[in-house]
Amino acid sequence: MGTPSAPHPASGPDAGPAPATSSNAGAPSQAASATPSTAAADTPIYPLSLRLAGRRVLVVGGGPVALRRVAGLRAADAEVVVVSPRLTPALDDMAARGLITAYRRAYQPGDLDGAWLVHACTDQPQVNEAVAAEAERQHVWCARADDAAASAAWVPAVGRTGPVTVAVNAGRDPRRAGELRDRLVDTVDAEGRLAGKAAEPVAGGQREAARVSIVGGGPGDPGLITVTGLRRLRAADVVVTDRLAPLELLADLAPGVQVVDAAKVPGGPAMRQDHINHALVEHARAGRAVVRLKGGDPFVFGRGREEVEACLAAGVPVEVVPGITSAISVPAAAGIPVTHRGVSQGFCVLAGHVRPGDSRSSVDWAALARSGMTLVLLMAVDHLTAIADTLISAGLPALTPGAVVSDGWTRQQRVITAPLAELADAVKLAGVTNPAVVVIGDVAQLAAGDLPVAGANPPAGPLSPGAPAASGSPATSGTPAPSSTPAPSSTPAGGPAAAEQLPAPVLGGTIPRTRSARGVLVLGGARSGKSATAEGMLAGDGPVDYVATGTPPGSGDAEWDTRVAEHQRRRPPHWRTIETLALAEVLAAPATAPVLVDCLTTWLARVMDDCGAWDGDQDAARALAARIDETIGAWRLTGRHVIAVSNEIGSGVVPGTASGRRFRDELGRLNSRIAADSDEVWFCTAGIARRLR
Ligand code: SAH
Repeated sequence: MGTPSAPHPASGPDAGPAPATSSNAGAPSQAASATPSTAAADTPIYPLSLRLAGRRVLVVGGGPVALRRVAGLRAADAEVVVVSPRLTPALDDMAARGLITAYRRAYQPGDLDGAWLVHACTDQPQVNEAVAAEAERQHVWCARADDAAASAAWVPAVGRTGPVTVAVNAGRDPRRAGELRDRLVDTVDAEGRLAGKAAEPVAGGQREAARVSIVGGGPGDPGLITVTGLRRLRAADVVVTDRLAPLELLADLAPGVQVVDAAKVPGGPAMRQDHINHALVEHARAGRAVVRLKGGDPFVFGRGREEVEACLAAGVPVEVVPGITSAISVPAAAGIPVTHRGVSQGFCVLAGHVRPGDSRSSVDWAALARSGMTLVLLMAVDHLTAIADTLISAGLPALTPGAVVSDGWTRQQRVITAPLAELADAVKLAGVTNPAVVVIGDVAQLAAGDLPVAGANPPAGPLSPGAPAASGSPATSGTPAPSSTPAPSSTPAGGPAAAEQLPAPVLGGTIPRTRSARGVLVLGGARSGKSATAEGMLAGDGPVDYVATGTPPGSGDAEWDTRVAEHQRRRPPHWRTIETLALAEVLAAPATAPVLVDCLTTWLARVMDDCGAWDGDQDAARALAARIDETIGAWRLTGRHVIAVSNEIGSGVVPGTASGRRFRDELGRLNSRIAADSDEVWFCTAGIARRLR
């Protein structure tokens, strides 16, 4: 099994004798002077690659520039000596660990003795000059960080991949050198071949490149694969992929690359593991570079080791490229850290695919209940009731916070939070299915916090870019502004998969609404206090199902994230949050907890997204009407006490686009229909709430 050798920019953007300040950059040609006193301004530089292993290199200076130089020198195994009165913490740490020698004092003559090369990178030009002058006298090459023109040696932008080292000088423009370096590194694969040139299969023998790379693709967002993983993928002749791998990456493969779908859909068609192993081995034997692309990390419930063993048994070279496991990153996508200072000192990752007590289960659930650790469960949705019951009977408090995050790092991401005792019901109610990660422990309370998350596909941005600005919930929201009214959304955010997740409403078993179970509509404009009013109506009522219909935080919109966080803070911890568009299903459930829908505005916007109903397409309009009818039917029939918040949009300003006007009209009609079937209608303005009916 090989060690992945990550292609990496070895010296970052540190290209050329990068000026310590940009003010002293001059013309590239001036910098070429090997001996500043004699060289002509346009003398070309002479590139040379140095083998520095075991050779002393002096670095004068202890700041960030020195740190970058030291990093590059250490990568080349140089014996690094740093002279500087002050060191950055990282340099200090390297010195403490004996990785470099550091003299914490000013540079003094004689420091150069025994050095083959010196980097002068202090922030004082006179010191750098003195170092350069002494180096000149001793015939030691000196790279000055502050003055390219006076520098005898230049540091190029460096990138490495496999046996190839790329070094670029781009005159006095380190950024351009870095960009060129990145481009060049990208053209070379892990074996030093030009990437994209598929290896020719060689009959009867193995090529150098023929091997199997078992690559962890991360949790779903194509941006969350490792650099090495991506490079292996780009150099692949064959990609054998799984269902939970970041499949978007397949779109960028070169046309000739063979993709083998080994998706293991639970309960669906699956390629047997021995067939997968056989395919990996046979493709590699035919001389191909094979990537086995998996979701998350190959060694976390990924059967990665079995595939490694199959390759080893067949004598096929194999390596493992780790990935970001969903166990940690999917909770993170919902703002949940698996550990948090003062809250959780550890976490335990386990599979919940067999129920506790099953003869195949080797998990000591009682010990876990006492462990004080965050429990992270994969493949556990189906057995959540049994798992929660087992943990509670083993002593874990029923009110322990829980969260379930499904389809993490995709646009279909959903987050359900509830106390452990109610988590399984909340998940069923919301129709959430695998793939999902369950988090049990106090950290789950941090779900839907205000942590921004990164990624090419920020999770669950249910509103498409052109959808109504700030339309909605759970924060109070504004009327779609005339200038930013929705553009027709070509790809419904939330996507087809989200639509598939919406279960059909079960209206048959509803209980007639009792006198205390009233239907209440709370209307108001942006920041009118309507959500707080609705929440106040349920305060002290025990558990409440809070149905969040808007985008969770991390959507990239700071204002939105702040508002979601505000709402989150206000909500009592024993309320459970259900992020769903399946309102009809929630209303039809034979549960007793009151429901707070916050709010109808975002619900409508997201359903319009789902149906593609922004641009007046007739079929889409019919689909939208059916969804609205179904929901209003459920509102009428529900046996649950339900409060819905919605925007009053009669601002009088005519939205500037047809889709904006359509949204305004749909929302107006929805509000009147819900109001007509409500026991109470409230209106909020300027923080004052008045009952209209
Ligand atoms: N090797 C993978 C785990 C494979 S087991 C890893 O390290 O992430 C499959 C389980 O992983 C799923 O049932 C689910 O529990 C979890 N999972 C994987 N991707 C997920 C995602 N994007 N969102 C939620 N759960 C996910």
